[in-house]
Amino acid sequence: MMNHLYNQTRWRMASVFAVILLAMSIVMGSFVYSTYQKASADYTKLVSSIFLAQQATPQLQLALEEGSRQPNGEQIRYIGYFLTLSHQHLNNIRTSIDHHRHLNADIDNLHKHFIKLDHRLTQLHRQAQESTQRPELIEEVQQAAIEIGHYQMWLYEQLLEQIQAVSAQQRLVMQRLTLGVSVLLVLVVSATITLCMEVIHLHHQRRLMHQMMLTDELTGLYNRRHLVNVASGALKQAQRDQAPLSLMLLDLDYFKRINDTYGHPIGDEVLRQISKKLRQLSRPTDTLARIGGEEFCLLMPNTSTHDALQVADRLRREVEANQLSGLEADDNPTISIGVTTDISGTLNFEQLYSFADKALYKAKSLGRNRVESLLPTITSTAPLGKPSFRSLLNHTSDSLSAPE
Ligand code: GH3
Ligand code: MG
Ligand code: MG
Repeated sequence: MMNHLYNQTRWRMASVFAVILLAMSIVMGSFVYSTYQKASADYTKLVSSIFLAQQATPQLQLALEEGSRQPNGEQIRYIGYFLTLSHQHLNNIRTSIDHHRHLNADIDNLHKHFIKLDHRLTQLHRQAQESTQRPELIEEVQQAAIEIGHYQMWLYEQLLEQIQAVSAQQRLVMQRLTLGVSVLLVLVVSATITLCMEVIHLHHQRRLMHQMMLTDELTGLYNRRHLVNVASGALKQAQRDQAPLSLMLLDLDYFKRINDTYGHPIGDEVLRQISKKLRQLSRPTDTLARIGGEEFCLLMPNTSTHDALQVADRLRREVEANQLSGLEADDNPTISIGVTTDISGTLNFEQLYSFADKALYKAKSLGRNRVESLLPTITSTAPLGKPSFRSLLNHTSDSLSAPE
């Protein structure tokens, strides 16, 4: 039921989001289209058509003056020529304007004048033709031609002015676009940089958190959690390979005394220095962890009890010989070590740990600063995963030998 509701809400939100996205895309699309139209329009051809059309009026005036000086009067022919030319210009200009669709809206107020001019030119044409039959009308036609010429001049000047205004607007749009694109670019670049830095920071934080989850803060060694993880994998691998896997538990002897004598901070420093030493001495294939206050554990894959005991004794001797700074020679810490090995491939980590712990307890009870081992016996009657004890084998620092 909850799932259904959740799905419904999710779909509803997705639909709303899709509608908003669609609406935004339409608005953005039309804005970009109109801006593009305005910014990319080329008025050169239109402007040159207007210039040409503007010349028709002075030409007519000149022709009329010229015609009046001639005896037969050529005025009507000149007027006819002027009318044809003006009509052509007007048509060219109107076609040109039609090509710039958005310009149509900008010069909306001039449209009625175009129609009026067209109408008056047609009308004058008719009057001019009539005047060829009735010469008394010539003067009236001349007057009308001059008027229309002026009207035409005025109209084209207006048109030019408006085109100039539109061009200025076009430049402004271009400037704003350039500015907008630059700002956008800066924003995108800074957003990308911020994002990258955030990702790096997050990655770093994640690595740090991961590291913190797996390591011990004081010594920098792995913690118990990581050891258990690694051990379960190593045990399975040892089982597959039929290889021995040894585990070593190390505990500082009389560490409480160091804390009591020198204080906790020195105690911490001792733990750090011992950890460093143990790390230096252990193999890269082994996993060293701090699993308690002054307790460490070394997991050794592919290691027989004999080899593990040798490693253990070496560690014990090195720690004993390593005089730590800030401590009296008599107070230099020693370690007791318990060793065990899974040879059968049937133990889990808890069982292996318990054997090593018992061996460590033995080392402590036998006087400390020594290595002891305890091995599980595989008997046919022992249920799987519950090995019985075969023997407790003691290996002191003085006499080290492989268990039977
Ligand atoms: P034993 O030889 O039987 O192991 O004696 P011990 O004194 O080492 O053992 P015990 O368990 O009596 O004391 C362990 C001491 O370790 C007690 C505690 O104050 C100290 N300890 C545990 N964790 C820390 C730590 O992080 N820093 C310091 N400085 N001391 C710690
Ligand atoms: Mg101790
Ligand atoms: Mg202890």
